[in-house]
Amino acid sequence: MANLLDKIKKVELVGRGGASFPVYLKWKTVKSEKSLEKYLVINGAEGEPGIYKDAYIINNYPEELMGGVKIASDFIKAKKIYFYLNKSLYDSKNKLNRIANSVGLKGEIIFFLKPVDSGYIAGEESTILNIIEGKNIESRLRPPFPACSGLFGMPTLINNIETIYNVYLVGKNKYQNKRFYSINFNKKNKGVYFLSENLSIKQVLKETKNYPDYNFFVQIGGDASGEVLNSNQLNKKVDGAGSITIYNLEKHQPEKLLKYWLNFFRDNSCGKCTPCREGTYRLCEMFDNFSLDMRKEKDFSDLCDNLFLSSFCALGTSAPIAVLSYFKNVYEPLIVSQKNLKVLKKNVKRKK
Ligand code: SF4
Repeated sequence: MANLLDKIKKVELVGRGGASFPVYLKWKTVKSEKSLEKYLVINGAEGEPGIYKDAYIINNYPEELMGGVKIASDFIKAKKIYFYLNKSLYDSKNKLNRIANSVGLKGEIIFFLKPVDSGYIAGEESTILNIIEGKNIESRLRPPFPACSGLFGMPTLINNIETIYNVYLVGKNKYQNKRFYSINFNKKNKGVYFLSENLSIKQVLKETKNYPDYNFFVQIGGDASGEVLNSNQLNKKVDGAGSITIYNLEKHQPEKLLKYWLNFFRDNSCGKCTPCREGTYRLCEMFDNFSLDMRKEKDFSDLCDNLFLSSFCALGTSAPIAVLSYFKNVYEPLIVSQKNLKVLKKNVKRKK
């Protein structure tokens, strides 16, 4: 098993839930805890719009996935395994349970349904622990981190589905530094692809034959919290949970898109901390009053700074990312061109 940890470290495996935390460090921490009671939690919440790779893995690689669960469980000597799934993935529980039995995990897994209408926050790892314990649907103060004090106060290894799938590949010496990419909004070739994690956004779009023949921009790492980039900024890697959503530059409706992002975070804020509860609400209010000109308001940048700097959890800190990067990388460059400005005005008018 020590050998496994070395292998995970050597391939520099990172978590694929979005935070890209080194798997080696998390596993080592849980392993080194003295407690005899440890838990394994598999996160299949997959709550960010635009990401559906976990569903793809369950549908296409369930044996490998459950093989990874067995490896992780044996590694920490888990007392119990909680397999946390959103409603659509929960339908696969019987299939996964059959495979679990066949890999030696009979009776060791509790399949746990993510509460319906619990929102985005119910996919955050410390919130999942609260939900399993029957507590409020809100994140926990860290430290202590779940690896030291997680479920029922015991050391807990919590990884998402893709991460556990990759652990299986590492254990079998089949890992090739690949990751899953969810590609959206290009009707022809949209879907999930398993490609090198070192590809740039541009390379991923070209390799999957998704590189648009129209003017476009992208959002990477999730349709809600992902950064927005223009087509001259595609030489970086796809980070976060590995999605690329393509938008048609000339056909998109700026107001509609901004409203979607702002409303998403307001509606999914759990309300626990003031910067996020008030900040996401006030951003929506500001948008209603000023529309696209909200970006010129001083309160706009103050609210975004507050969200970044003082939100309690990652939902609040990621709330301004899409809006700010859209203004900076897409909208502002676009309005310098009179021709494009006409197109934008037309789109705003069409929406009304
Ligand atoms: S940042 Fe938002 S979602 Fe997170 S604890 Fe605060 S109010 Fe809740």
